Amino acid sequence: MRDLPTTLAWVAEGTDLCRKALDGLDETSYGAPSRLPGWTRKHVVAHLAGNAEAIGNLVHWARTGEPTPMYGSPEQRLADIESGAGLSGDRLTAWFEESARALAEAMASLTEPRWRAEVVTAQGRTVPAGETPWMRAREVMVHAVDLGTGVRFADLPGEFLAALREDVLARRGPGNVPAVHGSPAEVTAYLAGRPCTGVTTSDGSPARPLPPWL
Ligand code: ZN
Repeated sequence: MRDLPTTLAWVAEGTDLCRKALDGLDETSYGAPSRLPGWTRKHVVAHLAGNAEAIGNLVHWARTGEPTPMYGSPEQRLADIESGAGLSGDRLTAWFEESARALAEAMASLTEPRWRAEVVTAQGRTVPAGETPWMRAREVMVHAVDLGTGVRFADLPGEFLAALREDVLARRGPGNVPAVHGSPAEVTAYLAGRPCTGVTTSDGSPARPLPPWL
């Protein structure tokens, strides 16, 4: 369902959605709350830029064999988001663009055998480097919605939403998620722990919100 060319295309598409979401934001709207609790749009963009660099570390690891973890530590990751959120909107947009460009270049230069090299994610999972475009795609797609400038889950590609539902269900554990009904886009938002409408359990009552994910 999610092969390498498809996930690489999703990275580019999600990056473009974020770019459009940021385009034209003045300093006040850039500093306004995102759809994520406690985070402004600046926090989201600082996280996205830091995430591009972190995933770039994994691509470097795959290319060279030199272990380069995504982040120094979970505390460092959060501290970098906090300090990044203090930058101006222009600086953040430039950081987002530069980090996304560097990651795209690094991914484009990775040879076929290197995509199979094993790397370790920030969650401690050992995965082939071929998993990193998916890791990045879900960040840029979902956070494009979280930026709260009008992108909706329904705007994301259907195949991406299906892959995301499968991923979230596997990660949360099927027993921890009630059977729910609703449009595919809204059910995906629900599973991702995002605001959603019209998602109900089998008796027709609104589904109880899940804890945030990603
Ligand atoms: Zn994220």
